[in-house]
Amino acid sequence: MLRESVTRLREGLRNKEYSARELVEASLARIDEQNGKLNALITVTPESALVAADAADRALAAGDAPDLCGIPLVHKDNFCTDGVLTTCGSRMLANFVPAYDATVTRNAASHGAITVGKANMDEFAMGSSSEHGHFGVVRNPWDHERVPGGSSGGSAAAVAAAMVPLATASDTGGSIRQPAAFCGITGMKPSYGRISRYGLVAYASSLDQAGVMGVSAEDCAYLLKAISGFDPLDSTSVQRPVEDYPAELEGALKGLKIGLPKPYWEGLESAVADAVQAQADELVKLGAELVEVEMPNASLAVSTYYLIAQAECSSNLSRYDGVRFGHRCEDPKDLQDLYRRSRGEGFCEETQRRILVGTFALSSGYIDAYYGKAMRARRLISDDFTAAFEHCDLMLSPTAPSAAFKIGEKETDPIAMYLADVNTVAVNLAGLPALSTPGPQVDGLPVGGQLIGPYFSESRLLMVAHQLQQATDWHLQVPEAAA
Ligand code: GLN
Repeated sequence: MLRESVTRLREGLRNKEYSARELVEASLARIDEQNGKLNALITVTPESALVAADAADRALAAGDAPDLCGIPLVHKDNFCTDGVLTTCGSRMLANFVPAYDATVTRNAASHGAITVGKANMDEFAMGSSSEHGHFGVVRNPWDHERVPGGSSGGSAAAVAAAMVPLATASDTGGSIRQPAAFCGITGMKPSYGRISRYGLVAYASSLDQAGVMGVSAEDCAYLLKAISGFDPLDSTSVQRPVEDYPAELEGALKGLKIGLPKPYWEGLESAVADAVQAQADELVKLGAELVEVEMPNASLAVSTYYLIAQAECSSNLSRYDGVRFGHRCEDPKDLQDLYRRSRGEGFCEETQRRILVGTFALSSGYIDAYYGKAMRARRLISDDFTAAFEHCDLMLSPTAPSAAFKIGEKETDPIAMYLADVNTVAVNLAGLPALSTPGPQVDGLPVGGQLIGPYFSESRLLMVAHQLQQATDWHLQVPEAAA
């Protein structure tokens, strides 16, 4: 039952083929069986989930069930959950229990979704492999020796292993799309401002955006609709009506121009490019037309992103001082000692590296040469997209340059790790929506194709992914352990 689509689960619940309690119990049983191996979840919340399931069954019986009534899901552990541990994968917040809900978790609940747990991640969402978290490495359900991608590796692994049909995640530079690609599921990062960031613990505020993961584009459409919308508590959320994404999946591809951004197809494993080319060919069969588009400033994206993201993280993470939030060292000698040791103990090496680089890039005497220059490059990168969208309606590229890599393979080489994000970071610099949808596998490992659209084209992206998924069965492949 956990492998069914959300549409089917909604039917099953409404037709009383099973109850919400049975569905949630199945999810909890699956978590019990799989989580020891995958380490996808940091916290499991069976008691509150079963209470919510019984309430869902009452709503279903009364015939006033909201859209996602009774559907289990997990939230990435950087979304605040009232009364439930929210660690951000960090020792710093290892015992942080928020007193309020993020807008995302509140919206999901008010649409009837049931939280069964909180998903593992790279510390403070910094990473591309889910190896940098205080709570240990997450394993890829397709091959336990490989990473699930990151930073939302726990959310992706939980969906791929059929613990839950849906998960929330966040994407600052690829953290939804790349793990979705590595785990063979669908993941969407909407336009900046589409979903409130209130209660999403900040990494790099001008890039962070919440989003969704599921087996299919259709499933993602339900959750996206539930959690999107203007929120007075986030001044960067956009006042614009939310479209009915599930109702708009049936469009036609005829005449749609799909741009292939040239640099995004270069310098990657050829088998990965072939797999995504097969997706492009399928889109042509459905009536789309392919055009090549230039992205002249694409080579600036990784360095620009890592500079801006690290500058913003150095500022956002300064709140963890051992006084107000999070970990505090034992017996501090004085205030300096308290700051130094609390932060030194609370943050992992990668987080510390980023805070140091970011602080340097913002320091007086260097800010113009580094941060100022990166902001100018950001504009050029964003202008590339504007120019490209004059020639096409959306773009297709490989999501990542390779399939899932081995655990430990890039751990000691931060630059190699950063390069895993070469095709995803520019989208965040420009604030655009994008999703990853599975293509044919390479050597038994999933590969994702990334669809990128103009601002607020979420409906069109989901429609195209849905049509592709209707015509193929790449998104229905299941890892053996989860079959
Ligand atoms: N891998 C990128 C980083 O480490 C992106 C992370 C994310 O999107 N949260 O910054």
